[in-house]
Amino acid sequence: MSTGLVSVAYVVASVLFILSLGGLSHQESARRGNLYGVAGIILALAATLASVSDEGITAIVIAVLAGASIGIAIANKVEMTQMPQLVALLHSFVGLAAVLVGFAGYLEPLTSTTGTEHTIKLVEVYVGIFIGAVTFTGSLVACGKLDGRIDSKALTLPGRHVMNLAAVVVSVILGGWFLGTDSLALGLLALVLMTVIAAALGIHLIMAIGGADMPVVVSMLNSYSGWAAASIGFMLGNDLLIVTGALVGSSGAILSYIMCKAMNRSFISVILGGFGQTTSSAAVAGADQSVQETSSDEVCEELRNAESVIIVPGYGMAVAQAQSGVSDLTRLLRERGVNVRFGIHPVAGRLPGHMNVLLAEAHVPYDIVLEMDEINGDFPETDVVLVIGANDTVNPAAAEDPGSPIAGMPVLEVWKARQVVVLKRGMATGYSGVENPLFFKDNARMLFGDAKDSIDKMVSGLRA
Ligand code: NDP
Repeated sequence: MSTGLVSVAYVVASVLFILSLGGLSHQESARRGNLYGVAGIILALAATLASVSDEGITAIVIAVLAGASIGIAIANKVEMTQMPQLVALLHSFVGLAAVLVGFAGYLEPLTSTTGTEHTIKLVEVYVGIFIGAVTFTGSLVACGKLDGRIDSKALTLPGRHVMNLAAVVVSVILGGWFLGTDSLALGLLALVLMTVIAAALGIHLIMAIGGADMPVVVSMLNSYSGWAAASIGFMLGNDLLIVTGALVGSSGAILSYIMCKAMNRSFISVILGGFGQTTSSAAVAGADQSVQETSSDEVCEELRNAESVIIVPGYGMAVAQAQSGVSDLTRLLRERGVNVRFGIHPVAGRLPGHMNVLLAEAHVPYDIVLEMDEINGDFPETDVVLVIGANDTVNPAAAEDPGSPIAGMPVLEVWKARQVVVLKRGMATGYSGVENPLFFKDNARMLFGDAKDSIDKMVSGLRA
């Protein structure tokens, strides 16, 4: 295929990716957005295959088949609740790819360059490897934290900001050395040293971010992986990779910004870490109080008598896979004339949009699934709120206790309703590890047990 045709195919693929992102911004158009994305990828792959030499094709086909087989095997095995850690792991692959391509591009450049062009090429290699190494190790730590293999609490080493700054300064100095030397061996040494420092920086940056800030970290690493891909694009002179990387990088950065706003956190303070350290006075007070338990039958009775119900799902609904029962419950209540709506917190679950995906999968109508800002004012006029496996996102300490580690984070104000029923298995904390005074409120009842079992019992009760 001629270079011109390949470029045209790349431009069309880029447009399809942009249309895909546009489509994904609304639930109704998300399916179409996905199709645009798939079409863009197929076109980009076809154009890439058509533009490489015969021996290159064999290597690409072998690599794609090996990668696809591993990908299919993992995708078949992974549970829906493990998706966030899988996404973090996949981000780490992009980072690793940027590092490897950077080293390959330095040791065996595709084209020989001189003068300013050569300096620009070296800067691309250096920056690409730096971003790639931070993304690689940072994503691995995020994966470990989401998976529970690494403690989700923030690791706050003394002088951590100075250490981070020192890592960046030393990397810049090494960069000057790298650009100034004509010796391949010395250049390689500078690259290796910088890679080690960037890898340590990635680990330290993400270890220092804890508790409820992880959603921002996941989308921030998504953004880094995009910039890492764009830097590979510069190194390889591949326009499509530059555009795609920039799309992922900027959309990840915008998502991080939106999440920070939703959590009332400043982007800089999230990146600097250390959030989630102080002890909540409400948590300590809550420890001596007792909770009021309820049963599925009692909750059924309350639901029968209710005029308005708000369902607040959280990570526990995903763990229990209770969404289809929740959908049945919603249908039964609506058939009885109850006004049922859903309140979705922007960071509920473990992935942006996690709850929306599960509810859409269970065919809950979109128009009754509302964002936190749309529904927060309606709790005082609500008869019953069902909190299904949500914890941090309904924690009143965020609004009422300035000493709480999650103070200032906007939450769904479920405690303002007439009656709140919390479905969870025990008294465990949520992801941020912060105690929840909601459970001890006078109008709160605990329905202990797996959320799916409890919901199924309620569905049977309502059907009877
Ligand atoms: P939480 O993580 O705060 O709480 C989930 C609750 O579900 C737990 O307290 C647990 O209690 C309960 N639970 C677990 N399994 C079951 C089950 N089978 N049946 C019933 N209950 C169950 O969830 P939220 O959605 O409220 O908050 C999300 C948290 O995750 C926030 O802190 C957010 O910052 C963080 N996060 C969000 C990300 C995102 O992008 N959305 C990414 C990374 C982190 P018990 O064990 O007692 O049952």
